[in-house]
Amino acid sequence: MFRAMKAVTLCIAVAVSTGVVSAQQAPASQTPTPAPPAAESGPGPVKGPNGEVLGYTNMAEIPDTPWRIHDAARPQPPIVPPGRVPGAPPADAIVLFDGGDLSQWAHSRKGQLVPAEWPVHDGHFETGAGRGSIVTRERFGDVQLHVEFATPTDATGFSQGRGNSGVILMGRYEIQVLDSFNNVTYADGMAASVYGEYPPDVNAARGPGEWQTYDIVFEAPAFDGDRLVRPAFVTVFWNGVLVHHRRQIMGSTSATMTVHGYTPHEPELPLTLQDHANPVKYRNVWIRRLSR
Ligand code: MG
Repeated sequence: MFRAMKAVTLCIAVAVSTGVVSAQQAPASQTPTPAPPAAESGPGPVKGPNGEVLGYTNMAEIPDTPWRIHDAARPQPPIVPPGRVPGAPPADAIVLFDGGDLSQWAHSRKGQLVPAEWPVHDGHFETGAGRGSIVTRERFGDVQLHVEFATPTDATGFSQGRGNSGVILMGRYEIQVLDSFNNVTYADGMAASVYGEYPPDVNAARGPGEWQTYDIVFEAPAFDGDRLVRPAFVTVFWNGVLVHHRRQIMGSTSATMTVHGYTPHEPELPLTLQDHANPVKYRNVWIRRLSR
């Protein structure tokens, strides 16, 4: 199986590099099909059916891996067809909102999950200010997350009172959602900040009412009993601009009167979208589990 996938992927890679397959056609073309086995080889290059070199068996060993450099036996990564347009969910994403309903979300009230009451219309949903935050029914640890949001066109309010919501990873670690277009607030509480810890490297805000994107890579913290053995890290692209590069999170962002710290928790927890009593729209929300 690996050998077949490898051969097909190599063919696609060659086709793309020579311009035969356009970027939009490429995803649909990557269907694994049986391929002739590579010719038997001794030490040295491993050749495919056309005499092409598919790898080697005698290169240097790569430290801390079972593989040699250009190892012909190294498995090909699984094929994951990307979304057909930029920002669309790839094939292995868990779609948390595709314009339809909030069935993947709930309110957590007195320990019980009840259906999300935020209004859904015209392909997006809104915070439903005053109804409380929503959480995913599914739990997540390490993830890649895509979120699109828009603060109100009618930009009223100031500082933290204009378009305030939040993407709260594991219900503890908030990437702030705010209207930060001509709206000054404390830097570590502006849009895309790790709330109360780090401002984004730059302000990449779009204007009120415009759709904006967060693409987040989150590495969950790890605990051994009560002991933190690995802190959380977060990488954030805001409207395609890198604003946090594997930032080490200090701890739960909820406590503002004390230095942030970690409280041990489960390896997977729901994702939260915050109701901060401001109307904010969301659409096209998807997530991918990451393994390491
Ligand atoms: Mg917030």
